[in-house]
Amino acid sequence: MTETIQCIGCGVTIQTENKDELGYTPNAALEKGLETGEVYCQRCFRLRHYNEIQDVSLTDDDFLRLLNELGQKDALIVNVVDIFDFNGSLIPGLHRFVGNNPVLLVGNKVDILPKSLKKSKLTQWMRERAHEAGLRPVDVLLTSAKKPHELSTLLDAIEEHRKGRDVYVVGVTNVGKSTLINQIIRQSAGVQELITTSRFPGTTLDKIEIPLEDGRFLIDTPGIIHRHQMAHYLGKKDLKIVAPHKEIKPKAYQLNSAQTLFLGGLARFDFIQGERSSFIAYVSNDVEIHRTKLEKADAFYDKHVGGLLQPPRAEEVAAFPELVRFEFSIKEKTDIVFAGLGWITVTQPGVVAGWAPKGVDVLRRKALI
Ligand code: GDP
Repeated sequence: MTETIQCIGCGVTIQTENKDELGYTPNAALEKGLETGEVYCQRCFRLRHYNEIQDVSLTDDDFLRLLNELGQKDALIVNVVDIFDFNGSLIPGLHRFVGNNPVLLVGNKVDILPKSLKKSKLTQWMRERAHEAGLRPVDVLLTSAKKPHELSTLLDAIEEHRKGRDVYVVGVTNVGKSTLINQIIRQSAGVQELITTSRFPGTTLDKIEIPLEDGRFLIDTPGIIHRHQMAHYLGKKDLKIVAPHKEIKPKAYQLNSAQTLFLGGLARFDFIQGERSSFIAYVSNDVEIHRTKLEKADAFYDKHVGGLLQPPRAEEVAAFPELVRFEFSIKEKTDIVFAGLGWITVTQPGVVAGWAPKGVDVLRRKALI
């Protein structure tokens, strides 16, 4: 019979196999813990020693259970999304799970948007998309987990909308929820010692509770992996290249019809038909853009993916999904959005196509800028 061991911090069952899942503890730490009688999972260990929470991801079933519990609480739900991958950050069916609880929709990573972008346009767009998904947020705002001064707006909004209730922070992985929570922990002087981790009754979910002034809590919940995010197709190093870290510098291209742009080897944009006009790329400054003729684009990609067109790296090409094509007929100024990567603004009417790795969405939206 194999014996299960529980973390004394959060009660989760300890496992040593999968780093990204709940209860992970390295073997060495487990042995040491067994000697002293104090076994912590890595997440609780880090929280205790570095005041830092760590990503964990849940299975779909566990996540559904977590969402179901939310509906039974009287709380403010803060849903964190990545403004760079809005569709990839939506939690399917969230509106059904939250019951009557208000939802505050928070778009993270505002620091990487170019200054020329009107914030109000973006929040308006987020609101419309949320409505389409059935979600009626009480408020939509932008923040940055990396810019402490942006955080105060968020904290004020939370205070305004929670009306004396607990706050649950939910989001899929990679939206920056851990970074945000860590920033909140850092800014809340003196709360570090008070942080507890505990779990939802009847489940294996741990959560982190940050005490609020009135005795209520802000509760961080684990994220679910959203498989349609670009992030899941890339190695850690490539993710650094693709995920913008600094304010994006727009790059403008004058294209004739029948020309193609490659965004590294990750995505492709074809200008199929229309007058010569400008196209503006908003992607991480580290993603190299290459221009070629449309008729040669297939062969160009086959020859150069993993080489001139990176990421993916040469050794990753074999496992990298093929690019899938989405065609769009453009009537007004439009953004062609490559989920998680960025977008290209089409300024004049015409026909274009966007290509992304199979599983990753290419969408259109009314131009934000
Ligand atoms: P989680 O899975 O939602 O907890 O996401 P993480 O906190 O691990 O963040 C995912 C990635 O986004 C990391 O590379 C972070 O450095 C980055 N990130 C998080 N917040 C921000 C932000 O406000 N701005 C920028 N530029 N990057 C961020």
